[in-house]
Amino acid sequence: MLIYLDGNLVPKEEALVSVFDHGFLYGDGVFEGIRVYEGNVFRLQEHIARLYESAKTIALEIPLTQEEMIQATTRTVAANEKQDAYIRLVVSRGPGDLGIDPAKCKQATVVIIVATIALYPEEHYQNGVKLVTASVRRIPMESLDPRVKSLNYLNNILAKLEAKNAGCLEAVMLNHHGLVAECTADNIFMVKNGVLKTPDLMQGALAGITRAAVLDLARERSLETQETVMALHDLYNADECFLTGTGAEIVPVVGIDGRQIHDGKPGPMTKTLLAAFRELRVRDGVKVAMPQAVR
Ligand code: PMP
Repeated sequence: MLIYLDGNLVPKEEALVSVFDHGFLYGDGVFEGIRVYEGNVFRLQEHIARLYESAKTIALEIPLTQEEMIQATTRTVAANEKQDAYIRLVVSRGPGDLGIDPAKCKQATVVIIVATIALYPEEHYQNGVKLVTASVRRIPMESLDPRVKSLNYLNNILAKLEAKNAGCLEAVMLNHHGLVAECTADNIFMVKNGVLKTPDLMQGALAGITRAAVLDLARERSLETQETVMALHDLYNADECFLTGTGAEIVPVVGIDGRQIHDGKPGPMTKTLLAAFRELRVRDGVKVAMPQAVR
């Protein structure tokens, strides 16, 4: 495995970062999780754009242009000769001293890891999953905008612990008004009377790349979509519900907090969008020129 570290491709064992890096000391940095499908890096430009927006908000200067970052990413995929993979792109504040002052960090650290993806079992897609609502609320926008995909995931991790304690894969996270925001590492959608709805980003959610792809697919099919406000009452009484995320893709939800969603089976719109997404994922992205051997 070759890791991109500050401009060089190095073996995994040599890909080491300083213990003084503020990414390690304070979770000061940003990241992306990206999929490669059949040598196609899904919506790479969009992921890179989101990374730079996250960095802008935390005033983190990335020492590469967006185009250079795209090149570095495809170069790392090609070097690892992987047709299907999960890419973790991390930009941390870089090494500094023990104080939090980011000005002490002279150069950001850039890491690109191309790993094997751990897929969810197919039964999750066939039968759907159940969720619980976390007691921990999503960090409010006025404290740290959830659109920033930062290295500090403790808020989500606390909610994930609640999901796991309840025997669930994911937890619904509410914002500080008690309205639905998203899940710990996925966005959430529901269908009611033929309308596809998801919380608008001002409710405190990451602008998911999969979320945007699903909205595009729905609009292409002339389905009515709404980025809106929803409470648990709306989710409990939905006709369909599903999650979206880079790792999850589209996972049907059949129960929330002990309430069955509709008939307890993945709904028709969910199935249509899942099939459409599986078709889209191999063509909507950046094709990587692989070394001859893996073509
Ligand atoms: N919300 C959160 C908090 C996330 O971490 C993620 C990414 N796993 C998502 C939503 C889904 O975003 P994407 O579709 O870009 O993976």
